[in-house]
Amino acid sequence: MKLILLGAPGAGKGTVAKQLTQLDGSVQISTGDILRGAVQAGSELGKQAEAYMKAGDLVPDDLIMGIMEQRLQEPDCEKGFLLDGFPRTIPQAEALKDLLKRIAVDLDFAVEIDVPREVILDRLTTRRTCVDCGAIYNVKSMPTKVEGVCDKCGGSVVQRDDETEEAISNRLDVYNEKTAPLVDFYRNENMLLTVSATSSEVVVNAIQERLGG
Ligand code: AMP
Repeated sequence: MKLILLGAPGAGKGTVAKQLTQLDGSVQISTGDILRGAVQAGSELGKQAEAYMKAGDLVPDDLIMGIMEQRLQEPDCEKGFLLDGFPRTIPQAEALKDLLKRIAVDLDFAVEIDVPREVILDRLTTRRTCVDCGAIYNVKSMPTKVEGVCDKCGGSVVQRDDETEEAISNRLDVYNEKTAPLVDFYRNENMLLTVSATSSEVVVNAIQERLGG
């Protein structure tokens, strides 16, 4: 399957993407994970992206398109891909449309995961992430067995720099201003599936149904 996952930070795009990868071997492509990896590695890309990310602002479109142009042409994308956190602006969506046309790849559709703002705020302030493997925990609903230590890889589990209250509030404003318009963009392309649900299983089922099985 070839899908775009849209939704505010904390809507559950990453969780849904991980569940979908189990179904048919499609790969999850998270621009946020790619950028965090680059920051951790101290690469040129990481240096350029770090300050924007820390403040909860978007990284410039040309940097993101440079990453995605390469990533979407890697062989593992042939089985399918789940775009998690990309596109995030109308110019990115337009550039993606051109890129896919150029490389002759058809998307199935875009999924809007619609979750109430109170749920988003609660999830983001209680979310914790492993700095090594990216595993996601939650201090209330899914804590690590040992505080601060990843159950899966033993790495440190921390609150992301952009999950302070100030950065979260900025990320939600940025989402409403820059990313929410993509819902209309894909609706106009006749490619939108909206699912209003806080359960990832409900979202996954709705996607499978729309895919026809
Ligand atoms: P995420 O993990 O998807 O919430 O992304 C974390 C941060 O990475 C965002 O707040 C942005 O600073 C940056 N980022 C991730 N994806 C994009 C994108 N498609 N366009 C611009 N910035 C992005």
